[in-house]
Amino acid sequence: MSSPSLTRFVRSSLEELKQNGLFNQIDALQGGNGPTIRIKDRSLINLSSNNYLGLASDERLIAAAEKALRQYGVGAGAVRTINGTMEIHGELEAKLARFKQTESAIAYQSGFNCNMAAISAVMDAGDAILSDELNHASIIDGCRLSKAKVIRYKHSDMEELERVARAARESGQYAKIMVITDGVFSMDGDIAKLPEIVAIAERYDLITYVDDAHGSGVLGEGAGTVKHFGLSDRVDFQIGTLSKAIGVVGGYVAGKQELIEWLKARSRPFLFSTATPPAIAAACVAALDILMDSTELQARLWRNAEYFRQGLEQLGFRTGHTETPIIPCIIGEEKQTQRFSRELLAEGVYAKAIVFPTVPKGLGRIRNMPTAAHTTAMLDEALAVYGKVKKRIGLE
Ligand code: PMP
Repeated sequence: MSSPSLTRFVRSSLEELKQNGLFNQIDALQGGNGPTIRIKDRSLINLSSNNYLGLASDERLIAAAEKALRQYGVGAGAVRTINGTMEIHGELEAKLARFKQTESAIAYQSGFNCNMAAISAVMDAGDAILSDELNHASIIDGCRLSKAKVIRYKHSDMEELERVARAARESGQYAKIMVITDGVFSMDGDIAKLPEIVAIAERYDLITYVDDAHGSGVLGEGAGTVKHFGLSDRVDFQIGTLSKAIGVVGGYVAGKQELIEWLKARSRPFLFSTATPPAIAAACVAALDILMDSTELQARLWRNAEYFRQGLEQLGFRTGHTETPIIPCIIGEEKQTQRFSRELLAEGVYAKAIVFPTVPKGLGRIRNMPTAAHTTAMLDEALAVYGKVKKRIGLE
């Protein structure tokens, strides 16, 4: 029997979500996550994955994982600091440091817990964090966990950032002040103004923290947004995930040797959560080898993204101010946006609607993420469906 207060809470909360159209229907895939996916025996063109380079089902990664499975077994068996660290974890961290051109790196089990880990290992009560209002949920949670004072600034508003940085520093109230930003913002596909952010940080002695989940493997010839702007030795924390362009799962911080040593000594998911399975680490190493060997996949990704964005614009859609392969197609009103996505699905295109409160009211959009693995024929087919649905719904 469950607690009556729990039952009341869960039932009414679920009801509220459903009434507000915020309850997620979860579709299970009957196979891998590639440029096409299979759901309920239908093949669909997939424009909703973060598998930017198509590496999630790449044979080279699969072979590396299989080999490591045989060598190390399935599970790591312990947390990293007891005896869960295998040689492959060290290899992964060394490769991440090379990939990011930093002194050192630490790998975590996911990007989400990397942010929880890294922010709270360094920031504390008595510190302040200046955080872009559109930063990812894991940053928001990491900030909360740290107990530091969080000061949100308007999205990419550098005048406001300068103002709050000056005020925080001049108040004399805070021992440490950090500025945190996504490298690429996941809803609009715009890039953080890192040169300005770094300059402000240097003026007011701010710790710089860039979560480059969507820029790594995509920008800066693969090395990410920080490299894209040539700021590799001027950013303290370079965060990345291994779950998007790398195609596997995991998160990491790349930075100075001493900082990484501190995170290995003090960040809680590293100390208290079982290490990444070795086969996963091996697949990540294989992905990094591919990325460091050639920029061909990035070139294909950008070609496809540009092709798709231009195609949408030719059909009369607004794509906002994206600068990356995250391509929003702005529909507007929430219910209309949801309907648009359902109609796309009925016609064989899987592209998710994103509506308020994830994005501002009236700016509902379909978020498209073409990958390096899409063929031109797939993109043409998806664009034809967009055109058809637009006409059917009667959008201007
Ligand atoms: N940071 C950002 C900016 C993200 O978009 C995501 C993924 N949604 C994460 C962190 C979390 O990464 P992961 O999925 O690897 O846990």
